[in-house]
Amino acid sequence: MTVKDKVVIVTGASSGIGRSVAMACSRLGAQVAMLDIDEAGRGIADEIGALFIQADVSNRDQWRDNVAQVESQFGRPDHVHLNAGIMLAAQGAPDDAYAFGALNLESYRKIMGVNVDGVVFGIQACVAAMTEGSSIVVTASLAGVVPYEYDPVYAMTKHAVVGLVRSLGGELGQRGIRINALCPGGIDTTIIPSSMYDPARLMSPDNVAEEVLDLFATETTGAAWAKVSNDKKIFVMDPPGSRRPPA
Ligand code: NAD
Repeated sequence: MTVKDKVVIVTGASSGIGRSVAMACSRLGAQVAMLDIDEAGRGIADEIGALFIQADVSNRDQWRDNVAQVESQFGRPDHVHLNAGIMLAAQGAPDDAYAFGALNLESYRKIMGVNVDGVVFGIQACVAAMTEGSSIVVTASLAGVVPYEYDPVYAMTKHAVVGLVRSLGGELGQRGIRINALCPGGIDTTIIPSSMYDPARLMSPDNVAEEVLDLFATETTGAAWAKVSNDKKIFVMDPPGSRRPPA
């Protein structure tokens, strides 16, 4: 697809999938706003001519200011990639740190804040500024459509945003705005738990970024798209009982 001269907002853009999407969009001539809590993205933004905004996606007030900043610098957003996300524990933690039994109030609020609030507040703030023909892609996960026993609370947050995206297609469609969820399997980024890190079995963030750019352009809306390997194209995972006509 062409994102040339389009205004693109990417969250979680300092690393992994978000960084790849920001770099690809910038290479293709888009005006890119990179939002991340981690300042590491500032140097990347300087290199690629993007705007870096240090942002906590779970903070609703910041969202309003950040979208206003993007609008004043570039104009209204055409494509938004709500991608920032965390697991219950950080890379390097032991396996049992991801278990439901390890959950405490602080870690619960944090993961809900980034993975759920970050998407809800992001959609609210961005949609207010978006016009007909624009689109949103939410990075969910395969753990948003199938059980993931390794990190049950992460799976819950990803199921939540898949449910939101699948249920919002109609309402946003009335305004000509499309929304889709990308549900990838393992990708070689810093979120992967150490005991699962096996580069030979992981997808590359650049490969997944190409799918995000395609989803910016797809006519489909309200769908969850699975991505299971570098070689296989994404495909729609319909919920049980769906009445969508077969592709
Ligand atoms: P990553 O850790 O490389 O990138 C995540 C980014 O989100 C980081 O730059 C981090 O600083 C940022 N972030 C964290 N909290 C934030 C906050 N409060 N506000 C703003 N930014 C914040 O990991 P990734 O794999 O690129 O993750 C991107 C998305 O992909 C996540 O939503 C993740 O759940 C999802 N995902 C990843 C995989 C995988 O195997 N890597 C698989 C399926 C889904």
